[in-house]
Amino acid sequence: MDLRNKKVTVVGMGSSGIDSVLLLERAGAIVSITDSGDDESVKERAECLAEKYINLETGRHTESFLEDTELLVVSPGVENGALPIRYANENNIPIISELELGYLFCEGTIVAITGTNGKTTVATLLGEILRSAGIPVNVCGNIGNSLSGETGNIKKDTVVILETSSFQLERIDSFKPKISVILNVTEDHLDRYRNFEEYLDAKKRIFKNQETGDIIVLNYDDKNLRDLIKTGKVRSKALYFSMKKKVDGIYLDRGNIKLSLKNKTKNLMVPGDYKLKGAHNTENVMVSCLVATLLGASPDAVKKAVKNFKPLAHRFESVALVGGVEFIDDSKATNIDSTSRALLSLDKPAILIAGGKDKNLSYEKVLPAIKKNVKKIILIGETKPKMRKIFKDFVDVREADTLPEAVILAYKSASPGESVLLSPMCSSFDMFGDYKERGEVFRRAVGELRVKDAVD
Ligand code: ADP
Repeated sequence: MDLRNKKVTVVGMGSSGIDSVLLLERAGAIVSITDSGDDESVKERAECLAEKYINLETGRHTESFLEDTELLVVSPGVENGALPIRYANENNIPIISELELGYLFCEGTIVAITGTNGKTTVATLLGEILRSAGIPVNVCGNIGNSLSGETGNIKKDTVVILETSSFQLERIDSFKPKISVILNVTEDHLDRYRNFEEYLDAKKRIFKNQETGDIIVLNYDDKNLRDLIKTGKVRSKALYFSMKKKVDGIYLDRGNIKLSLKNKTKNLMVPGDYKLKGAHNTENVMVSCLVATLLGASPDAVKKAVKNFKPLAHRFESVALVGGVEFIDDSKATNIDSTSRALLSLDKPAILIAGGKDKNLSYEKVLPAIKKNVKKIILIGETKPKMRKIFKDFVDVREADTLPEAVILAYKSASPGESVLLSPMCSSFDMFGDYKERGEVFRRAVGELRVKDAVD
């Protein structure tokens, strides 16, 4: 797309919005940016952009600001009902996401990873494996650094491991990864999508432009994904990962991870070879090993990197042992399946700390995992009344006003040998800036308990 002298408006002044502006400027476009917010971070960014003489609007969106716009570039957080999007639709102005913009300027080979859970873990692990195999790699996208911001660092021989969210996929046009990966799709973001189908459809856009020479890697154990091939809409070659079935790709068979490509099967490793815990992480390891192998990594490089990989912070991360009670920070668990998988990975009774900002999910779906392992739930945040109603007939439920108070209550209820798991099933924005802050508050509160022992 030739953007020289084209009038382009970027919507959203977060970091990906700023990256879009800078990329568009380099491409010779006449750029404007609009953000309905006017908090400190927006003001700071606006000042920097004003110094570069970028035309900008903050605190509101107006139609007059959008006059003459020939292309709209939308940041992931912007909702479909926002004025610029409505205006563009009414006036037939093309709309693309920051992801599509970055793609137009990306020279490397793209591996796009989506799914409800595990994206960051898989993108990071895959990046580590490729690095250990000596393959030039750039890990970017939803993980924090946008593709638009990275294009200058990406060369023809770079493998781009791109974490992609459903929001980013909503407004792609020509985006076509060489390898697409869908890890799993379970209920999430129902505050933004009308129903599960609409959310699944957004994820499916990852392969919409893929062709015969491309590859899609799917979770065979997820029925919605296994059945995708039957729809006839997938043109790329499908490979799978599975915890249960011998598939083309990679699978777990009697405790061994086996790689099976072009009718040749070999043992790669066993779950005891790595530090990541839980069946969900074995899925993450398997898919990472498969994709790395497809990209040319040797079995030795794959094994070495997986063995050395440390669990990421706030993701089912064991943070302390206090008086024989293990404290696990799973603050990044912001939906039902992530919390279920954490609970099912525990081999001892747990006190669960849950609750936060509501995303309209069917929280009762966590009940089988709760019945298996949870002794008591301590609720925090906006969802307290809703969750209390759902859980009270099945398990002892208490409430706390703050997370540190919940930690103290949990510690008092736990016996040595048991665990306290922060796995909220909700986003954090009712009480915290983000999931990282929530995890840090948890860790600090745990640190203030009488620490008898620390876990590496
Ligand atoms: P994402 O980037 O998709 O949010 P993360 O790797 O950051 O994924 O993990 C988010 C949450 O999901 C954490 O609680 C983590 O323990 C859990 N999780 C990680 N991998 C999986 C998986 N494959 N299936 C279900 N839950 C997972």
